[in-house]
Amino acid sequence: MSDIRNVIVIGSGPAGLTAAIYTARANLAPLVIEGEPSSTSDQPGGQLMLTTEVENFPGFPEGIMGPELMANFRAQAERFGAEFLTEKVTRVDFSERPFRVWVRDTEHRAHSIIVSTGAQSLMLGLEEENRLIGHGLSTCATCDGFFFRGHEIAVVGGGDSAIEEATFLTKFAEKVTIIHRRDSLRASKIMQDRAFANPKIEFLWNHTVSSLQGEESLTGITVRHVETGETTELPVTGLFVAIGHRPNTDLFTGILDMEDNGYLITKPGSTYTNVEGVFACGDVQDHTYRQAITAAGSGCMAAIDAERWLEANVHG
Ligand code: NAP
Repeated sequence: MSDIRNVIVIGSGPAGLTAAIYTARANLAPLVIEGEPSSTSDQPGGQLMLTTEVENFPGFPEGIMGPELMANFRAQAERFGAEFLTEKVTRVDFSERPFRVWVRDTEHRAHSIIVSTGAQSLMLGLEEENRLIGHGLSTCATCDGFFFRGHEIAVVGGGDSAIEEATFLTKFAEKVTIIHRRDSLRASKIMQDRAFANPKIEFLWNHTVSSLQGEESLTGITVRHVETGETTELPVTGLFVAIGHRPNTDLFTGILDMEDNGYLITKPGSTYTNVEGVFACGDVQDHTYRQAITAAGSGCMAAIDAERWLEANVHG
């Protein structure tokens, strides 16, 4: 049985690490359970660890590499005394206070919890994805579109995200091919019409992506017709996967209120969840903006909410 902490932060992307910086500077000695270096889901540092250059994070006029930015966030939190555990939370119990959080068999207890476990982009499941992500393969047009000025690129998916990303990417790319596994889109009518009217967008219906080419960066893809099985090579240098996102909320099923799609529900204008003393920030509760800067902003909100709540309910 461990001592009772003021706050445990679960997750270490921009939201969690910003919450750690703020709670550490408020002398709350946060414990950050940052995740485990693994595949593409719960790696410490979150989704920015899968990107290369970040050009839209304010304060870095020359841009910064995603992993370097997250190392800076982490160093800043450590400087003020945040402690880190490079492990994955395996179970939580928020039914009574102090709250309990387990990493395998070890129990950690805290008066308050900040949940910042993020979300992950759904991927195609191809072998080459881990190698090429951030090197021509992307899940975020807002982040990476700029790097494809004048290129021929492709987007996979048929929902609003795919159409929105493809339309946005035509600002930079010479040509954008939307690859969809069926012959009709799921996206809203107005967005479909906009894409159909865009001379830079082409559609490849009834196809899936079967392999990616390129060692250092993407040089082409192979697509496969879903009915005939016929394969075709497309010489694209960019592939944006826009087949949906999944919030990392399995741990909290039946414990924290969620929307039907699994995103945590927070009280509007705050980071309060339905459990008093448990706060949520970043992509785990935001399927709209999903930017590092908005995640960081909500991490700051969660830290301030937690600090005030602790003052009123625990230390006051
Ligand atoms: P989505 O609506 O679930 O669409 C995912 C698309 O990816 C579908 O077309 C699906 O094909 C395809 N897909 C799924 N798995 C695939 C796979 N393994 N291989 C190939 N294709 C695959 O997801 P979303 O577009 O990210 O949108 C999520 C939610 O956010 C929706 O409610 C959407 O309306 C909303 N959204 C709104 C806006 C906006 O209004 N501006 C922008 C973005 C998102 P099928 O069609 O065959 O299932």
